[in-house]
Amino acid sequence: MTQAIGLLGGTFDPIHLGHLRMALEAGETLALDEVRLLPCHQPPHRATPDVSSVERTEMLRLALADCPSLVLDDRELHRDGPSYTLDTLKSLRAELGPAVPLIWILGCDAFLGLEQWHGWRELLDWGHLLVIARPGWELPSRGPLAEWLSEHQVAPEALTASPAGAIGVQALRLLPISATEIRSLIQAGHSPQFLLPDAVWQYIRDNNLYRACA
Ligand code: ATP
Repeated sequence: MTQAIGLLGGTFDPIHLGHLRMALEAGETLALDEVRLLPCHQPPHRATPDVSSVERTEMLRLALADCPSLVLDDRELHRDGPSYTLDTLKSLRAELGPAVPLIWILGCDAFLGLEQWHGWRELLDWGHLLVIARPGWELPSRGPLAEWLSEHQVAPEALTASPAGAIGVQALRLLPISATEIRSLIQAGHSPQFLLPDAVWQYIRDNNLYRACA
């Protein structure tokens, strides 16, 4: 049987339990063989984080140590320039072959900004999209993105039946945690414990991260 692979890209600045539960639940809901987490080297649509991509990747490595169905994929660190998702999907497709379903997972908030992504309409030539409903965010109801969604939307469980070309929308119980909130807590001298894996919090303390970030 052809494997189906989920892909969750992000700055992971830092990785937290919201990301991890979402990746795990998406993988289990669609019976994916694995979900890869891909740290972004140089985000095209936001300021480059103060914490380096190497450190953000190290935190991911620590977070994923006990979960074999979630896998680190650090390919974006090996490309210079902005980390375009389109290039990442092309590189995965070249490596994994034409038949494997590739499912790029993104929160509703990220989907709403999709028109700013480099070559966004082309993404479906290389993989599927799985949009996860996130508290406080609604899917677009008008405009090019809304039209594109209604043209390509299928039931999420249909995504694993083909390699690319469709969009699924999946409601999951999501934890209301954001990396922004974690950075603010640390900067204010508060503890983010229980919002992220203990090993990641330890790494942040050992390396004195986020104390000086805005
Ligand atoms: P920031 O607060 O710095 O913007 P973030 O917590 O939203 O960060 P990102 O690394 O930007 O995290 O997000 C990576 C992906 O994870 C995006 O698709 C985003 O929608 C999703 N995501 C972020 N937080 C959660 C959460 N609590 N539950 C589910 N998905 C999330």
